[in-house]
Formats: sequence, C-alpha cells, structure tokens
Amino acid sequence: MNIYWNSITGHKVNIARLKTLCREDMVPHSMLFSGIDGIGKRLAAQAMAATLLCHSPVEGGACGHCPSCRALLSDTHPDFFTVVPQVKKGTACIFIDDIREMQGKVARVPILSASRVVIIDDAQTMNDAAANSLLKTIEEPGGQIYFILITNSIMALLDTIISRCMREDFAGLSPEDISAVLVDQGISRQQANYLAAFADGSVRHAMLLNDEEGLSLQKTAMEFFSACAGRNLDMDMVWRLGTELGEMGKADRDKLRQWFSFLAMAIRDELVVYSGSGVTLYNQQDSFRINELASQLTEHQLIAMLRLVREYQGRLRYRVSTRLMVESFAIKIKDLLED
Ligand SMILES: [Zn+2]
Repeated sequence: MNIYWNSITGHKVNIARLKTLCREDMVPHSMLFSGIDGIGKRLAAQAMAATLLCHSPVEGGACGHCPSCRALLSDTHPDFFTVVPQVKKGTACIFIDDIREMQGKVARVPILSASRVVIIDDAQTMNDAAANSLLKTIEEPGGQIYFILITNSIMALLDTIISRCMREDFAGLSPEDISAVLVDQGISRQQANYLAAFADGSVRHAMLLNDEEGLSLQKTAMEFFSACAGRNLDMDMVWRLGTELGEMGKADRDKLRQWFSFLAMAIRDELVVYSGSGVTLYNQQDSFRINELASQLTEHQLIAMLRLVREYQGRLRYRVSTRLMVESFAIKIKDLLED
C-alpha cells in the first residue's frame, strides 16, 4: 500500500490540512474522505493511516523505515485494517458481518503501534444494519483507534455517520494532473492530454477510456453521432440504445459515463473542424468520417448537444435508472435536431 503523501497527485490544500492535523496531534477519531472515484482518496487515507501508525513521523508524514512503516509496506501491519465491500449478485455491499468481524479484530490492544487505524472503503455501500453497527463503535471507540471512511457518494451515507466524522472533501483533478499520472503509467503525452481532457477529473475514468472496452464504446458513440448527423435517429434506435447502455448496475454506470465522454469527443471534433483551427482531432482514425459529417449539423446544434451531454454526465452521480436516463437523453437529442 501507499504510505507517503508525496505519491499523491494534486489535492495540495487537503494534504496540507491533513498533515497539520497529524503534526499537531489533532487528528479526530473518525474522518470521512469524499469525492468522485479515481482521484486519490484511497492513497490519501493510506498515507494518513501510515502517519498515525508511524513510530517517528516526519513533518506530518510517515518516516518510511520504522517497524510500523515497514510492516505497512509489506501489508503485514497487525494494527491496520481495511473493510471493503463484497460483491454479491453484481451488487457491492458492506454487510453487518463485515463490520462485526472488524470490531472483533480491533477490540484487541495495538501490537506494533500506539494506535489502530481502520479504513472503510466505499463506505456508501454499507447497508443500514452495517452502518448502525459501525456507528456504535465510532461513538464509543474504546482506546486509541482511528476510522477513515472513503466515499464517492456522501448522499448515500446515513446522516448520523456523516455528523460523527470530520469531512475532508476532495475535488476532481485538473487535466494537467491527470495527464501527469497517465504519463507516469507509460501513456504517451499526446494521448494522455486527450484522455485527461475528457476524464471529468478522474484518473480512473481516463484509464477506462483507454482500455479495449473503451474502444468498442467509442465505436457505439461514433455510430450514435453519425445517426444524429444523418438525421437517422428514430425511436427504434432510442429504445435499442436504452437496452444496450442502460441496464442497471455499477459497471454499466461506468460504461455509460465513458460513452458520454466519447460522444463529447466526437462533438468536440466536429466543432474543431468547424472552427478550422487545425487542432488535432481526438478521433483521428475517424477523421474522414468526422469531416464528412461536419456540414450536416450547425454549430448551434453541436453546442446544444454538447451541453446536453454534460448535463447527463452530471446526472450520473445520482441514483437514477440508467436506462431511463439513456432514453430521455436520446429523445432530447432527437427533439433538438428536429427543431
Ligand atoms: Zn515510520
């Protein structure tokens, strides 16, 4: 696991604040790290845990060579615990048994460090029984113990949990920060810049855009866009799209997010062609098609489409039926083009 603050990209203000709490020995016993997926909340929680457990922290960070730091680096620390959701029937959930198991483990005295740290990942997946059980431990922790909850959806957590925790909200990363992370992972600078521009602040989204499934979604988005440009978007296509992209489930939500990003890229490329600015197209392999389509939609229509894409990308944060969302999106696009 990560133990260092400096392996985290961006979030300078959050990190400075958390380091100060560590340095001043003011760390609250329950913290809640929130923000969208793929921005480094987990890395920050791990660095925080390492600092709290370290035998001789330096400037609010873990030293890296004490027995505690070494144990964390080899994933063998007896006072460090993580609770992660189990996936059952395609749904991720933290059950009361997972919380009870953790409670049993942390009931012992610390072995290697002066305190114990528990990270609860994807805390929004706790069902009510699990959350209520955790609440009891948070309220009366018993001994030196810290809880760091991580969530991508604060609204899905019980108010009673939120009110017991110190909140640390992490914003999405800048395209420059995402691009830097991607380049570190071996992606070319040009590709990294493109991916970062459409990743909505998340390294995870950028990586998804880059994988093989991403390529097939790109094709689907391009086909949808061609249908729009050719005025071939009919209700059959709307329903088909709803079935293809809109089935419920977390994985499908991610896919849908990617699909919207690809659609945004296609629209942005059209706008580039319009402006004649010579900026490189995202869909370079499809540049012939992009050029061909360029005269079929007005700049006004393209901008209105892009606005709709952005609006629906935002709606993905809420728990709405993805299928209904896709259908309503496609119908709005259809109306927009018929105006
Ligand atoms: Zn240390």
